[in-house]
Amino acid sequence: AAEEGFDAEEVEGALEEAGHGPLPVLAVVGRPNVGKSTLVNRIIGRREAVVEDKPGVTRDRVTYEAEWAGRRFKVVDTGGWEQDVLGIDASVAAQAEYAIEAADAVVFVVDAKVGATDTDEAVVRLLRKAGKPVVLCANKVDGQSGEADASYLWSLGLGEPHPVSALHGRGTGDMLDRVLEALPEAPAQTFGTAVGGPRRIALIGRPNVGKSSLLNKVAGEERVVVNELAGTTRDPVDELIELGGVTWKFVDTAGIRKRVHLQQGADYYASLRTAAAVEKAEVAVILIDASESISVQDQRIVTMAVEAGRAIVVAYNKWDTLDEERRYYLEREIETELGQVAWAPRVNVSAQTGRHMEKLVPAIETALAGWETRVPTGRLNAFLGELVAAHPHPVRGGKQPRILFGTQAGTKPPRFVLFASGFIEAGYRRFIERRLREEFSFEGTPIHISVRVRE
Ligand code: GDP
Ligand code: GDP
Repeated sequence: AAEEGFDAEEVEGALEEAGHGPLPVLAVVGRPNVGKSTLVNRIIGRREAVVEDKPGVTRDRVTYEAEWAGRRFKVVDTGGWEQDVLGIDASVAAQAEYAIEAADAVVFVVDAKVGATDTDEAVVRLLRKAGKPVVLCANKVDGQSGEADASYLWSLGLGEPHPVSALHGRGTGDMLDRVLEALPEAPAQTFGTAVGGPRRIALIGRPNVGKSSLLNKVAGEERVVVNELAGTTRDPVDELIELGGVTWKFVDTAGIRKRVHLQQGADYYASLRTAAAVEKAEVAVILIDASESISVQDQRIVTMAVEAGRAIVVAYNKWDTLDEERRYYLEREIETELGQVAWAPRVNVSAQTGRHMEKLVPAIETALAGWETRVPTGRLNAFLGELVAAHPHPVRGGKQPRILFGTQAGTKPPRFVLFASGFIEAGYRRFIERRLREEFSFEGTPIHISVRVRE
């Protein structure tokens, strides 16, 4: 398609780049202080992330995007949680198991200077059960003399220990080469074996919004088909629940039912669990407590689901408690605080009374339909042609950039590449997104639009 100044190769390249499906997920696990956060910083090539953490400070990100040797993937960092009331083994195991469950491959970090401890052995057992590919990182090997320490870690039975200095970067390149070998091209969780099975729902929201009540309500009134045993580790459990005549898989429901209430690190633990559930799901049902002000934590959860590119439904719970005044303020808050998901189907429910439970499934179906929509190239270009003719881009410096043509590079969520004759301003991009949404009903799905400019 050598169209209007773009050669075929350029177009192909742009489509390939924009069309990538969801990225595979790498989890970095290990005891506190072995250097996980330092290593994650190395891998993502930024200092932004982690190490400045003070104990007890909530970290709002647990997933980062990384690229090595031209391949992109996500990294889940489990370094943000201090040992707490559970005691060290249980804390490490609990955070590791969520991360492992959501991951396609794992980097297990051990402090080579200390050697393998009992806690390390406990993590090894988890890793064995999970059966995911593992790359063993022997960290804190800052020089040649530390290499011998690394070789002791063969005893863990996880294969070759890779001597690394996360702090100085020594050996990290070789280790990342191994990681790429271990990591599948696409995440198995979302697009592998599960294709064709029941659709996967993550029920997410901050503590006390009513997740467990809602789950009990839907599972109680309808039939719980099976309680799947945890496939790998003891905690994350997926439940099959029949709703509206269709079987759905609610992922990681054990975490919801168990109601883990920890003192320290509870927020971090909750974020990790949310990130893991979102990774495993196709659609996120985000529960908001309508009786309380929409909080920063609510917004973070929304952002997590949007950034992960999942279909989204927003459910406002505890509707039974709302008076007229609260309803008025809620609508204002939704407008100002949740504009980023203004396109998501909305249901106002009460897990307590069962109000509007029947609206949940149609909303989920709408969101999934939007998420999977593919617009034929002909139709897209007819639409773009009319749009651009009726609403041209503003003239800048005597030139008028034009959208020349466009194509959809992928779905789940829909991704578009537009080819343009000059720089397209952010305002005009938003305008196009808005019109695309109106025209093709992308309700309940993030959409990605990238613009290529002819050189
Ligand atoms: P985490 O708790 O596993 O995330 O560990 P951190 O990344 O916070 O690191 C714990 C401590 O070990 C910090 O003081 C780091 O600077 C230090 N550290 C991390 N990696 C290395 C390394 O490769 N060599 C040395 N000497 N110290 C390291
Ligand atoms: P989770 O932490 O998100 O799982 O929240 P829970 O399901 O444990 O609910 C937290 C509290 O809110 C409990 O006391 C529930 O009884 C209450 N709750 C949940 N849903 C509703 C609702 O729709 N209406 C009212 N009035 N209370 C609710």
